[in-house]
Amino acid sequence: MRPRVIRKSPQNLRVPPHLADWKGERARFAWSDARKELTGAAQGDLNTGRLAVDRHLATAVRERVAFRFIGRNDARRDVTYAELARQTNRFANVLKRLGVGRGERLFILAGRVPELYTAAIGALKNGTVVAPLFSAFGPEPIRTRMAIGEGRVLLTSESLFRRKVAGILGQLPALEHILLIGDDGSRTDVPGTLDLATLMEQAADDFEAVPTSGEDMALLHFTSGTSGAPKAAVHVHAAAIAHYATSKYALDLHGQDMFWCTADPGWVTGTSYGIIAPLLHGVTSLVDEADFDAERWYRLLQEHRVSVWYTAPTAIRMLMKGGAELARKYRFPDLRLVASVGEPLNPEAVWWGIEVLGLPIHDNWWQTETGAIMIANTVAMDIKPGSMGKPLPGIDASLVRRCEGGGVERLDAAEAEGELALRVGWPSMFRGYLGQEDRYRKCFAGDYYLTGDLARRDAEGYYWFVGRADDLIKSAGHLIGPFEVENVLMEHPAVAEAGVIGKPDPLVGEVVKAFVSLKPGFGASDPLRMDLLGHARKRLGAAVAPKEIAFLATLPRTRSGKIMRRLLKARELGLPEGDTSTLEGPA
Ligand code: AMP
Repeated sequence: MRPRVIRKSPQNLRVPPHLADWKGERARFAWSDARKELTGAAQGDLNTGRLAVDRHLATAVRERVAFRFIGRNDARRDVTYAELARQTNRFANVLKRLGVGRGERLFILAGRVPELYTAAIGALKNGTVVAPLFSAFGPEPIRTRMAIGEGRVLLTSESLFRRKVAGILGQLPALEHILLIGDDGSRTDVPGTLDLATLMEQAADDFEAVPTSGEDMALLHFTSGTSGAPKAAVHVHAAAIAHYATSKYALDLHGQDMFWCTADPGWVTGTSYGIIAPLLHGVTSLVDEADFDAERWYRLLQEHRVSVWYTAPTAIRMLMKGGAELARKYRFPDLRLVASVGEPLNPEAVWWGIEVLGLPIHDNWWQTETGAIMIANTVAMDIKPGSMGKPLPGIDASLVRRCEGGGVERLDAAEAEGELALRVGWPSMFRGYLGQEDRYRKCFAGDYYLTGDLARRDAEGYYWFVGRADDLIKSAGHLIGPFEVENVLMEHPAVAEAGVIGKPDPLVGEVVKAFVSLKPGFGASDPLRMDLLGHARKRLGAAVAPKEIAFLATLPRTRSGKIMRRLLKARELGLPEGDTSTLEGPA
């Protein structure tokens, strides 16, 4: 039998850890000190772009590689901090020349190409808000998000533009400028758009970062709701303080590291830890443009001597599926920390890490709204496989039970189970859902931000993920709102009603499964199922579309008319149906 705890000892670590004494550091920690550590004595402006890049120009870090880009064809391009400073200045000047300024929104829809990284940092320097979109989104999720965020500029590639944006242009009234990245390095010449490479060539490479305050909006990250439209979580420049501190404590970043965050920058992890955090620490990041491939990943880890690796449970399970033999063809002597986030990490995956990579996987927890890692198994901490770890310094986590009337009761017993809540006050906490004040306010009770996740705390203060308190679906680490999927299914002429759930899946956590009832005159059939799957995939994109569709005569609804997804799920899984007293009729 495997032990319940993997013992760690700071003395045995190759690099002395930033967080050797969890208890002491938590007691000493103050966010104001973290700010000083990052920004120096200056307490005025706080511009993430300047802190990430320009700040290093006065030190030896300027000659260090900031990003090592690996193309799909394996071509390698190293960009130093000095070069990144020039490129991001050029992009800031491009925005300035277009008249795009502070607080206005740049949407980015692109693969992991160098232009995306340059644009994100350049825009931040210009005070322009960056709103990343996942390149596997279909036209509908792109349209909704750009409409909510009132995107004035869109940066995308020529092929993504043609496939996903051209058809919805008429529905994006705020959009004024479209900057295109040529496919395979070519120039673009598409009417109504601008060629990015040409604009960059014409722009000057010096720029003084706009003196944004910590409370200026920096990033918009979209996240899904169980009902209604997606939500645009507002993040501010002060979040950089949390990115800096958490990547110090949870990822243990040191200047000499080769860091690889495999998350796509279309999601919050890929931006916070794939772009901003490593730059704040002056480390080198590996960026691979290609999609997951087990052998490629092992090869990249070995060849580029990755020392700190931040990845996700689905990716780890896919590596596990590929078999240990494949991994044994490679060696990872430089690897010293492997961390993972986004969905529950099975204990077997933690042990697999030890067997195959020589290190356990360190699970950590956070979400779009928290802006940075909150709970983690840190490098010097004993690991309990299956647990998310303990709150980082500066993070005050509790478990609560919601009460009638909107308040919460805090569950103070050492061992408890309830909704995970965080005391407000850390710098990367979201500052609102753009244009949805009510939904934002509902996330708080008194001093606490309520996460919507259920968790358990054990006697030693480790937190264990129990489940979501709502109907949101986590598939391959991506949060999917059932409502968005239901809406698109309902557009189909055959569909009368649709209910969408997450169906447990051993590889990707959950797959999106839809239940539909049909309008009179339509009959359930395999060709109709294929047609519906195709429709959903075309509109929503592969990352969001359902993988399975089942036909039902009617869907269970509450008396107030809401589809009972919980019941659909219980029936799908053969679980007890729970309280069905609000169920309408004999569904
Ligand atoms: P997102 O906002 O898309 O980053 O998704 C955040 C959600 O992912 C959290 O609220 C959790 O439900 C889930 N999640 C993140 N990290 C973990 C983890 N380590 N274990 C279990 N669930 C996680």
